[in-house]
Amino acid sequence: AKELGRNTFQFYNSAMNTATLERLLMESNLRRALIQEEFTLFYQPLVSLQSGLVIGVEALIRWQHPDLGMIMPDRFIHVAEETGLINQIGDWVLCEACRQAQRWVKAGLPPLIMAVNVAPVQFRQAGFVEVVAGALAASGLEASRLELEVTERTVMHDADINLGTLSALHRMGVELSLDDFGTGYSSLAYLKRFPVGKLKIDRSFINDLETDADDQAIASTIVSMGRNLRLTVLAEGVETIEQLALLRKMGCDMAQGYHFSRPLPAEQIADLLRQQPFM
Ligand code: C2E
Ligand code: CA
Ligand code: CA
Ligand code: CA
Repeated sequence: AKELGRNTFQFYNSAMNTATLERLLMESNLRRALIQEEFTLFYQPLVSLQSGLVIGVEALIRWQHPDLGMIMPDRFIHVAEETGLINQIGDWVLCEACRQAQRWVKAGLPPLIMAVNVAPVQFRQAGFVEVVAGALAASGLEASRLELEVTERTVMHDADINLGTLSALHRMGVELSLDDFGTGYSSLAYLKRFPVGKLKIDRSFINDLETDADDQAIASTIVSMGRNLRLTVLAEGVETIEQLALLRKMGCDMAQGYHFSRPLPAEQIADLLRQQPFM
């Protein structure tokens, strides 16, 4: 048993080293990616369920690796968070998304809401409010057209400190939305205190909406709670017409998902807008 114990320990140890090595590699790759400008943003339409019109887009990061091709955020965002690189990456995302919103305006597209994901570490960095103000000033984008997506995990942790940041952003005119709603430990009391304008129902509740009575109950509860608190409710991950029909019946305000469009490169958004309304 003693032998086995030692072997187990060694195995565990070397597995940890491999993980550490991979992380170090990933970290230096991410640094290079920032310098070489290998990141790019895709945009996914946010659709009004009343008009069927695209009223905004969510910016989603992609890493165009020279050898490995396109790398999705789930593979690198957590390393970026652990190493603190998320601040630089996130600042770039914010600036680029604001610039793109203005490029579309100059190209004659109707003004869209630009929704940008903010990681917990990035949100809590000193001077985050100034970074946002800088991105708006540099691009000329109106504050009310920028929407920052934060998760419950981001804002409920140290809620009082975060309330200060949220309030400062709100005073600037920036819109705020709670991402992945329903998966975190949201306190309804905080929901009332936070200057948030939108709830995004997490995709996990929409996946089996047609067949799962519990998911239907959760989704419609969030929709009616949102209405009572005068919040806009958006359903994420809408893939089928049946899901869409159920959500409209519940009175959900907005939706996003493959049913309407996958995330697209900036150049393809203009074409897509010519195909609307979507319903
Ligand atoms: P998220 O914020 O919940 O973004 C929505 C994710 O769902 C996106 O994945 C999107 O492509 C995917 N999605 C949209 N519609 C559907 C659908 O109908 N079906 C399915 N199965 N998936 C759908 P993506 O782009 O891979 O991003 C994953 C996560 O990475 C995001 O989840 C967000 O947490 C994070 N992320 C992406 N871009 C950024 C960024 O610029 N900064 C930060 N901090 N995080 C980002
Ligand atoms: Ca999001
Ligand atoms: Ca989400
Ligand atoms: Ca999600």
